[in-house]
Amino acid sequence: MLGIDIGGSGIKGALVDARTGSLIGDRHRIATPESAMPDQVAAVVRKLVRQFNWKGTLGIALPARVKGGVALTAANIDDSWIGTDAAKLFMESTGCDVVVLNDADAAGLAEMTFGAGRGASGVALVLTFGTGIGSALFVDGHLVPNTEFGHLELRGGIAEAYAAASVKKRQQLTWEDWAGRAQEYLDHIEFVFAPDLIVIGGGISRPKRARKYLHLLTTKARLVPARLQNEAGIVGAACAAHRAGPGGRPKP
Ligand code: BGC
Repeated sequence: MLGIDIGGSGIKGALVDARTGSLIGDRHRIATPESAMPDQVAAVVRKLVRQFNWKGTLGIALPARVKGGVALTAANIDDSWIGTDAAKLFMESTGCDVVVLNDADAAGLAEMTFGAGRGASGVALVLTFGTGIGSALFVDGHLVPNTEFGHLELRGGIAEAYAAASVKKRQQLTWEDWAGRAQEYLDHIEFVFAPDLIVIGGGISRPKRARKYLHLLTTKARLVPARLQNEAGIVGAACAAHRAGPGGRPKP
Protein backbone atom coordinates (compact mmCIF):
# COMPACT_ATOMS: atom_id res chain seq x y z
CA MET A 1 0.00 0.00 0.00
CA LEU A 2 1.09 3.62 -0.42
CA GLY A 3 1.30 5.67 2.77
CA ILE A 4 1.86 9.42 2.87
CA ASP A 5 2.73 11.44 5.97
CA ILE A 6 2.16 15.19 5.87
CA GLY A 7 4.48 16.95 8.30
CA GLY A 8 5.37 20.53 9.13
CA SER A 9 8.60 20.40 7.13
CA GLY A 10 8.25 17.47 4.72
CA ILE A 11 5.63 15.40 2.94
CA LYS A 12 6.88 11.82 2.81
CA GLY A 13 5.59 8.76 1.05
CA ALA A 14 6.59 5.14 0.59
CA LEU A 15 5.17 1.83 -0.51
CA VAL A 16 4.62 -0.37 2.52
CA ASP A 17 4.16 -4.10 2.86
CA ALA A 18 0.99 -3.97 4.98
CA ARG A 19 1.58 -7.50 6.33
CA THR A 20 5.02 -6.73 7.80
CA GLY A 21 5.07 -2.93 8.11
CA SER A 22 8.34 -2.68 6.18
CA LEU A 23 8.97 -0.16 3.43
CA ILE A 24 9.27 -1.45 -0.11
CA GLY A 25 11.89 0.58 -1.96
CA ASP A 26 12.80 4.17 -1.26
CA ARG A 27 10.96 6.79 0.72
CA HIS A 28 10.25 9.96 -1.27
CA ARG A 29 10.17 13.35 0.42
CA ILE A 30 9.07 16.74 -0.87
CA ALA A 31 9.41 19.86 1.30
CA THR A 32 6.07 21.07 2.70
CA PRO A 33 5.03 24.29 0.90
CA GLU A 34 5.65 27.28 3.18
CA SER A 35 2.03 28.17 3.91
CA ALA A 36 0.85 24.50 3.73
CA MET A 37 -2.61 25.44 2.40
CA PRO A 38 -4.88 22.56 1.32
CA ASP A 39 -4.50 23.05 -2.46
CA GLN A 40 -0.71 23.35 -2.27
CA VAL A 41 -0.42 20.23 -0.12
CA ALA A 42 -2.81 18.35 -2.42
CA ALA A 43 -0.56 19.23 -5.38
CA VAL A 44 2.46 17.74 -3.59
CA VAL A 45 0.49 14.60 -2.69
CA ARG A 46 -0.50 14.24 -6.35
CA LYS A 47 3.17 14.52 -7.35
CA LEU A 48 4.14 11.77 -4.89
CA VAL A 49 1.33 9.49 -6.07
CA ARG A 50 2.57 9.96 -9.64
CA GLN A 51 6.16 9.23 -8.64
CA PHE A 52 5.00 5.89 -7.28
CA ASN A 53 2.60 5.39 -10.18
CA TRP A 54 0.03 4.37 -7.55
CA LYS A 55 -3.57 3.62 -8.50
CA GLY A 56 -4.98 1.84 -5.43
CA THR A 57 -6.35 3.10 -2.11
CA LEU A 58 -4.07 5.64 -0.51
CA GLY A 59 -3.49 6.35 3.21
CA ILE A 60 -2.71 9.91 4.26
CA ALA A 61 -1.65 11.06 7.73
CA LEU A 62 -2.48 14.69 8.50
CA PRO A 63 -1.46 16.74 11.57
CA ALA A 64 -5.08 17.52 12.43
CA ARG A 65 -8.08 15.98 14.13
CA VAL A 66 -9.86 14.16 11.28
CA LYS A 67 -13.45 12.89 11.35
CA GLY A 68 -15.14 11.32 8.35
CA GLY A 69 -12.31 12.64 6.17
CA VAL A 70 -12.84 16.24 7.32
CA ALA A 71 -10.04 18.14 9.12
CA LEU A 72 -11.38 19.74 12.29
CA THR A 73 -8.23 21.39 13.67
CA ALA A 74 -5.03 22.89 12.29
CA ALA A 75 -2.36 23.35 14.94
CA ASN A 76 0.81 23.28 12.82
CA ILE A 77 -0.69 23.73 9.35
CA ASP A 78 -2.64 26.55 7.72
CA ASP A 79 -5.94 27.47 9.42
CA SER A 80 -7.79 27.02 6.13
CA TRP A 81 -7.61 23.24 6.76
CA ILE A 82 -10.31 23.58 9.39
CA GLY A 83 -13.53 22.29 7.85
CA THR A 84 -11.75 21.08 4.69
CA ASP A 85 -12.95 17.72 3.40
CA ALA A 86 -9.41 16.40 3.11
CA ALA A 87 -10.46 12.98 1.81
CA LYS A 88 -12.42 14.58 -1.04
CA LEU A 89 -9.61 17.05 -1.79
CA PHE A 90 -6.97 14.30 -2.04
CA MET A 91 -9.33 12.01 -3.96
CA GLU A 92 -9.85 14.72 -6.54
CA SER A 93 -6.15 15.61 -6.77
CA THR A 94 -4.91 12.01 -7.08
CA GLY A 95 -7.81 10.09 -8.62
CA CYS A 96 -7.33 7.44 -5.91
CA ASP A 97 -9.58 6.28 -3.09
CA VAL A 98 -8.23 7.91 0.05
CA VAL A 99 -8.25 7.30 3.80
CA VAL A 100 -7.20 10.31 5.88
CA LEU A 101 -6.35 10.05 9.56
CA ASN A 102 -4.52 12.00 12.24
CA ASP A 103 -0.72 11.65 11.93
CA ALA A 104 -0.17 10.52 15.53
CA ASP A 105 -3.01 8.00 15.23
CA ALA A 106 -1.26 6.66 12.12
CA ALA A 107 2.09 6.46 13.94
CA GLY A 108 0.35 4.79 16.86
CA LEU A 109 -1.30 2.17 14.65
CA ALA A 110 2.10 1.35 13.16
CA GLU A 111 3.83 1.08 16.56
CA MET A 112 1.04 -1.02 18.04
CA THR A 113 0.90 -3.34 15.03
CA PHE A 114 4.58 -3.73 14.13
CA GLY A 115 6.68 -1.78 16.61
CA ALA A 116 7.28 -1.03 20.27
CA GLY A 117 3.66 -1.56 21.35
CA ARG A 118 3.03 -4.79 19.50
CA GLY A 119 0.74 -7.08 21.50
CA ALA A 120 0.37 -4.61 24.38
CA SER A 121 -2.88 -4.86 26.34
CA GLY A 122 -4.32 -2.33 28.79
CA VAL A 123 -4.00 1.42 28.20
CA ALA A 124 -1.16 2.33 25.85
CA LEU A 125 -0.23 5.80 24.73
CA VAL A 126 1.97 6.63 21.76
CA LEU A 127 3.30 10.20 21.96
CA THR A 128 5.07 11.74 18.97
CA PHE A 129 7.45 14.61 19.72
CA GLY A 130 8.12 16.76 16.66
CA THR A 131 6.87 20.19 15.58
CA GLY A 132 4.00 19.57 18.02
CA ILE A 133 3.13 16.68 20.31
CA GLY A 134 0.80 14.08 18.82
CA SER A 135 -0.99 11.38 20.79
CA ALA A 136 -2.59 8.03 20.03
CA LEU A 137 -4.47 6.24 22.79
CA PHE A 138 -5.09 2.49 22.69
CA VAL A 139 -7.23 0.36 24.96
CA ASP A 140 -6.40 -3.33 24.59
CA GLY A 141 -5.00 -2.59 21.14
CA HIS A 142 -8.03 -0.57 19.97
CA LEU A 143 -7.42 3.02 18.94
CA VAL A 144 -9.40 5.83 20.57
CA PRO A 145 -8.90 8.32 17.72
CA ASN A 146 -8.18 12.07 17.72
CA THR A 147 -7.11 12.49 21.34
CA GLU A 148 -4.86 15.60 20.90
CA PHE A 149 -3.07 15.24 24.25
CA GLY A 150 -0.37 17.62 23.02
CA HIS A 151 -2.94 20.32 23.71
CA LEU A 152 -3.42 19.52 27.39
CA GLU A 153 -2.80 22.54 29.55
CA LEU A 154 0.65 22.70 31.10
CA ARG A 155 2.10 25.71 32.93
CA GLY A 156 -0.76 27.91 31.76
CA GLY A 157 -0.23 27.18 28.06
CA ILE A 158 -0.53 24.15 25.81
CA ALA A 159 1.84 21.28 26.47
CA GLU A 160 3.31 21.11 22.97
CA ALA A 161 4.40 24.76 23.16
CA TYR A 162 6.47 23.79 26.21
CA ALA A 163 7.76 20.29 25.51
CA ALA A 164 7.67 19.49 21.75
CA ALA A 165 10.96 18.57 20.07
CA SER A 166 10.76 21.78 18.03
CA VAL A 167 10.85 23.80 21.27
CA LYS A 168 14.17 22.19 22.20
CA LYS A 169 15.61 23.33 18.90
CA ARG A 170 14.02 26.77 18.89
CA GLN A 171 15.00 27.61 22.46
CA GLN A 172 18.34 25.78 22.19
CA LEU A 173 17.58 23.72 25.29
CA THR A 174 20.09 21.16 26.49
CA TRP A 175 18.91 17.52 26.58
CA GLU A 176 18.71 17.81 30.38
CA ASP A 177 16.49 20.90 30.16
CA TRP A 178 14.25 19.36 27.54
CA ALA A 179 14.01 16.09 29.45
CA GLY A 180 12.88 18.11 32.50
CA ARG A 181 10.04 19.54 30.44
CA ALA A 182 9.15 16.15 28.94
CA GLN A 183 9.10 14.75 32.50
CA GLU A 184 6.62 17.43 33.63
CA TYR A 185 4.43 16.57 30.66
CA LEU A 186 4.63 12.83 31.31
CA ASP A 187 3.82 13.37 35.01
CA HIS A 188 0.68 15.22 33.96
CA ILE A 189 -0.24 12.53 31.44
CA GLU A 190 0.20 9.84 34.09
CA PHE A 191 -1.86 11.78 36.61
CA VAL A 192 -4.75 12.10 34.17
CA PHE A 193 -4.70 8.78 32.25
CA ALA A 194 -2.56 6.28 34.21
CA PRO A 195 -1.42 4.42 31.09
CA ASP A 196 0.30 1.04 31.33
CA LEU A 197 2.65 1.73 28.43
CA ILE A 198 4.03 4.94 26.94
CA VAL A 199 5.80 4.83 23.57
CA ILE A 200 7.91 7.90 22.77
CA GLY A 201 7.82 8.50 19.03
CA GLY A 202 8.69 11.14 16.45
CA GLY A 203 12.15 12.18 15.27
CA ILE A 204 13.30 12.41 18.89
CA SER A 205 12.95 8.63 19.28
CA ARG A 206 15.83 7.80 16.93
CA PRO A 207 18.31 5.70 18.96
CA LYS A 208 21.10 8.31 18.75
CA ARG A 209 18.81 10.91 20.29
CA ALA A 210 16.87 8.64 22.66
CA ARG A 211 20.17 7.75 24.38
CA LYS A 212 20.53 11.39 25.40
CA TYR A 213 17.34 11.69 27.46
CA LEU A 214 15.51 8.39 28.03
CA HIS A 215 17.54 7.60 31.16
CA LEU A 216 16.47 10.98 32.58
CA LEU A 217 12.75 10.13 32.43
CA THR A 218 10.88 8.23 35.14
CA THR A 219 7.33 6.96 34.71
CA LYS A 220 5.09 4.48 36.50
CA ALA A 221 4.13 3.13 33.07
CA ARG A 222 6.60 1.11 31.02
CA LEU A 223 8.36 3.72 28.87
CA VAL A 224 9.90 2.68 25.54
CA PRO A 225 11.17 4.46 22.42
CA ALA A 226 9.25 3.90 19.19
CA ARG A 227 10.69 1.34 16.84
CA LEU A 228 9.51 2.78 13.54
CA GLN A 229 10.46 6.34 14.48
CA ASN A 230 9.93 8.76 11.58
CA GLU A 231 8.51 6.09 9.31
CA ALA A 232 5.61 5.27 11.64
CA GLY A 233 3.25 7.82 10.06
CA ILE A 234 3.80 6.42 6.56
CA VAL A 235 3.41 2.83 7.74
CA GLY A 236 0.28 3.59 9.78
CA ALA A 237 -1.33 5.50 6.91
CA ALA A 238 -0.65 2.57 4.59
CA CYS A 239 -2.14 0.16 7.16
CA ALA A 240 -5.28 2.28 7.47
CA ALA A 241 -5.64 2.18 3.68
CA HIS A 242 -5.11 -1.58 3.71
CA ARG A 243 -7.79 -2.04 6.38
CA ALA A 244 -10.22 0.16 4.47
CA GLY A 245 -9.65 -1.47 1.09
CA PRO A 246 -11.18 -0.25 -2.17
CA GLY A 247 -13.49 2.75 -1.73
CA GLY A 248 -11.43 4.01 1.21
CA ARG A 249 -14.15 3.25 3.73
CA PRO A 250 -13.33 1.19 6.82
CA LYS A 251 -14.92 -2.26 6.83
CA PRO A 252 -17.74 -2.59 9.41
C1 BGC B 1 -1.76 18.55 16.24
C2 BGC B 1 -2.08 17.09 16.18
C3 BGC B 1 -0.89 16.32 15.61
C4 BGC B 1 0.37 16.66 16.36
C5 BGC B 1 1.58 16.00 15.74
C6 BGC B 1 -0.47 18.76 17.00
O1 BGC B 1 -0.16 20.11 17.04
O2 BGC B 1 -2.80 19.25 16.91
O3 BGC B 1 -3.22 16.87 15.39
O4 BGC B 1 -1.16 14.97 15.70
O5 BGC B 1 0.59 18.06 16.37
O6 BGC B 1 1.81 16.40 14.45
